[in-house]
Amino acid sequence: MTDRYSDFINTPIGKKLAGALGLPAPVPLERYNPAEPQVPGMIMAIGESAAFEQVVADLVAEHVDVRRNLAPRDRPHAVLIGVDHATTVEELEHGLMQAQAAVKSVARNGRVIVISKHPELATGIEEHAVAVGVTGFVRSLAHELRAGATANGVQLTAQPSSGELTALTQAVRFFLSKRSVFVSGQFLPVDPNQTGATVDRVHPLAGKVALVTGAARGIGAEIARTLSRDGATVVGIDIPAAGDALASVCNEIGGLAVQVDITAMDAPEKIFAALKQRGLKADIVVHNAGITRDKLFVNMDAMQFNSVLEVNLAAQLRFNKAFLGSDVQGDAPRMVTLSSTSGIAGNRGQTNYAVSKAGVIGLVESSAADFAAAGGSINAVAPGFIETEMTSRIPFATREVARRLNSLQQGGKPEDVAEVIAFLVSDAAAGVNGQTLRVCGQNLVGA
Ligand code: NAD
Repeated sequence: MTDRYSDFINTPIGKKLAGALGLPAPVPLERYNPAEPQVPGMIMAIGESAAFEQVVADLVAEHVDVRRNLAPRDRPHAVLIGVDHATTVEELEHGLMQAQAAVKSVARNGRVIVISKHPELATGIEEHAVAVGVTGFVRSLAHELRAGATANGVQLTAQPSSGELTALTQAVRFFLSKRSVFVSGQFLPVDPNQTGATVDRVHPLAGKVALVTGAARGIGAEIARTLSRDGATVVGIDIPAAGDALASVCNEIGGLAVQVDITAMDAPEKIFAALKQRGLKADIVVHNAGITRDKLFVNMDAMQFNSVLEVNLAAQLRFNKAFLGSDVQGDAPRMVTLSSTSGIAGNRGQTNYAVSKAGVIGLVESSAADFAAAGGSINAVAPGFIETEMTSRIPFATREVARRLNSLQQGGKPEDVAEVIAFLVSDAAAGVNGQTLRVCGQNLVGA
């Protein structure tokens, strides 16, 4: 779907008009390309903890240009700020304020990344207040940054026990990369002691088999393409009515198409049978299929209410129960489910949808221990406004408002969600489990 306003506002006349009238001026976002360097520019590093120094050492070892001082005309791609050592308000003040000049000089489409302690790790009242206080800084700075730049945080959920901080560095790398282009004002809690495997940067999913539901179109089709590009063999699932579109996506990427309505009671059996027939096990599952049936709660019939819960939540619960411990489960299963910012903040006309999307956040939280025991992980992504057929059905005026109401002043693209999922299902995200990461350009409304 095209965003004509964005296209116009980036013409010379459009830019003048936006400046004169104070209109939103969304900047074209630079998106991920595996052929380009994964960390696209110089990084200014400001911090002092052992964990921070280890991240810097890891990046330098991978030939990333990390500096401790900036020359007057330097425009860093990213500013990496470490305040995980801060236990007092004074230490936090110092840690953040010393980054001010560097933040001012950050490049277009740049990044500010703050490493801090997860509040659960803090001991004592002041240290806890400081850890939570960091979230206010990152969220506000993300609102203030312009020209496509974003701010995000990585939170340590455990005290690093050795010099091995691969999972922490991988999370920082994710935020440094263009994979995270539509993620802003968010936090990724990471267990720094989960080292994960050495990651093949170009094909991080090589040798993996990935199930993707709702793969015939929209975000699901883009997830299928992205996981395939990253090396996975994709098994795409969709309803029989979408069979032609599903076949076309799967043919394009050399994947396998399985026509199943996921709400059918025997859907897990059918999917497992299709895998077994080809001698495959699923290392990755992405529960993407979803529907909306919007109406005010008082006007909604039971069919509209229940069908959304069936597709978006109940079908996933049934699948997961049958999948974990089955003979088609891969050795270290990584699962991602699609939530929504509506599931976090609620949305008028979407009581049914919000139940289902908040429900999957609960599913993820309560399944994390089981997935960890199986050597894997389960996480959710919560997209905001993404340009798809689903959102093209929103009435024009509402759609135009929804698309501008985030810090990046534009809708995301299906590939923006797909890139985040591709990170979460890779070994690079070994330290991330039970989390919900928003991909919403920092929606200004709601939570
Ligand atoms: P879409 O409507 O374009 O595509 C959904 C796909 O799921 C379709 O191919 C459809 O046939 C399939 N599907 C529906 N019911 C199914 C069933 N019972 N069995 C198998 N397949 C089924 O939607 P989209 O915009 O690409 O959204 C994908 C996911 O992202 C959904 O879970 C949606 O709730 C979520 N999401 C989307 C947005 C957005 O802005 N587009 C925002 C937040 C969350």
